[in-house]
Amino acid sequence: MLIFECPYCGVLADETDLAAGGEAHLKRFGPGSTDDEFEAYLFNRENPKGVHFERWRHINGCGKWFNAARCTITMEVFGTYPAQTLEPPTEITNNISIKRPVWKWKEFS
Ligand SMILES: [Zn+2]
Repeated sequence: MLIFECPYCGVLADETDLAAGGEAHLKRFGPGSTDDEFEAYLFNRENPKGVHFERWRHINGCGKWFNAARCTITMEVFGTYPAQTLEPPTEITNNISIKRPVWKWKEFS
């Protein structure tokens, strides 16, 4: 069972208290973008075997959205942070790099 600490209210919430919201840190494309960019925004998602950044909502708690970094193989949670954060906090990426030395994440823009 997945257990995340909500970064807003500090509660340790299991997955029955949460709703999954898909991949975090998507670059949004809208009017003025190319068809390929818009198609990629709508349909292309990471599906890694390993570290993944996801959006979750604390539906049976404070109701707020947050991001979480976890491993899709071991279900290890590396940390959570507010959804308004444009990039994962350095503390979390450092924690991942220590535990997964070959791990790399795409450049954020
Ligand atoms: Zn909460």
